[in-house]
Amino acid sequence: MHYISTRGRAPRLDFSEVLLDGLGRDGGLYLPETWPQIDADTLRRWRGLSYADLAKRIMRLFVGTTIAPADLDRMIDDTYRGFDHRAVAPLKQLGPDEWVMELFHGPTLAFKDFALQLLGRLFDHVLDRSDRRGVILGATSGDTGSAAIEACRDRARLDVFILHPLGRTSEVQRRQMTTVLSPNIHNIAIQGTFDDAQDMVKAAFGDEGFRDTVGLTAINSINWARIAAQVVYYFHAGLALGAPDRPIAFSVPTGNFGDVYAGYIAARMGLPVAKLIVATNENDILARFFRDGDYSSAGVRPTLSPSMDIQVASNFERLLFDLKGRDGEATAAAIATFRATGRLPVTPAEVAEAQALFDAGAADDTRTLSTIRTVFGETGEILDPHTAVGVAVGRDRKPAGVPVVVLSTAHPAKFPDAVERAIGRRPALPERMADLMERPERFETLEADVSGLKSHIMSHRRNV
Ligand SMILES: *Cc1c(COP(=O)(O)O)cnc(C)c1O
Repeated sequence: MHYISTRGRAPRLDFSEVLLDGLGRDGGLYLPETWPQIDADTLRRWRGLSYADLAKRIMRLFVGTTIAPADLDRMIDDTYRGFDHRAVAPLKQLGPDEWVMELFHGPTLAFKDFALQLLGRLFDHVLDRSDRRGVILGATSGDTGSAAIEACRDRARLDVFILHPLGRTSEVQRRQMTTVLSPNIHNIAIQGTFDDAQDMVKAAFGDEGFRDTVGLTAINSINWARIAAQVVYYFHAGLALGAPDRPIAFSVPTGNFGDVYAGYIAARMGLPVAKLIVATNENDILARFFRDGDYSSAGVRPTLSPSMDIQVASNFERLLFDLKGRDGEATAAAIATFRATGRLPVTPAEVAEAQALFDAGAADDTRTLSTIRTVFGETGEILDPHTAVGVAVGRDRKPAGVPVVVLSTAHPAKFPDAVERAIGRRPALPERMADLMERPERFETLEADVSGLKSHIMSHRRNV
């Protein structure tokens, strides 16, 4: 299995290389040269497999021969053994033909654990094999930072530096990061906004000398291995509900287009998918594209579902590459036009092709709160605000006669204020985290200045 870049000018790489490289040197995103295919008989045989055993079969298709099967299997077993629920990604029925898939039983209570828990192990393994060390650097406004920290804590080959804007994350989110006291975890509060922190990270990556000296690696959602790990749960839900003999639809709360893009890959690989419903909050650039072909940026507005407050969805470039007939020049030109004018050039035929599989809609904060309230009244289930967007749009756009699975991307206890506004009570954290608010915290505070950040990393990363 080899990987090519969406902009057509970066070297062809294998899985271990795209794992460590992340972004292509031409600025593009890597994806497989061809889609692995899984036929209907194989899918029928895979019914009833445990989550980890299914993940081994699917990940193997993406990893190829770059990691020994026994090593990959062990890492996958370790990853999903750490989840709180025996089914790993349990399905819960809300009503006739309507299900939620709970993707929040990992260590940090959001779906990002599915990929990052495995990625931390894969990074460590690949670095160990070549006797190298790496530094993971990222900025976070919420869930990604804690998922990356939990995934990489105590890994021998990795140091992790995560920047958050001082005083601007929720207390639960900050404490999920700063109460991890492992020696390889370095939390940094930046005296500035999330955008300031993000700019410092970009500037550090832009310094090639520094990047090579410390072995800088990104763990953001453009990393191919993250997408690959997310393909598994689409198959898992499909097989539980009758695939390959019954098509199903998915409604996916969407920000950076990573999660729902993994559903597109599952469909390309042979899972019968009736529709992929892209569910956004008021930051609706993706909903506008799939409804009207209009991909034009607007300012980001803060909402009750902050992990989807995004207006430029980086993974969308991967779908665009397919819509442009896998033409890297055409993809690069379209992205350049978008950067220059704020509007993506697409033809009516390309939009129609996208609409064959995708549908979309948006739900604002009022609708988010009323959906949490309605579903609680109907079923007693408490949804987090991101999942509520998925349920609301899934109900609006559900194809007739097809079961819809809504991806539940976070545990409601991560967003207690929104839940309290909707139903008047605060959901409890799981037992193992009940003392989160009393645990000691550790973080450094730095000014929003990249040279200060670089010297901090140089002096705080472990053995050199
Ligand atoms: C990251 C995140 C999303 C958005 O996922 P994308 O892959 O960026 O579309 C949705 N919900 C929650 C809770 C998240 O943490």
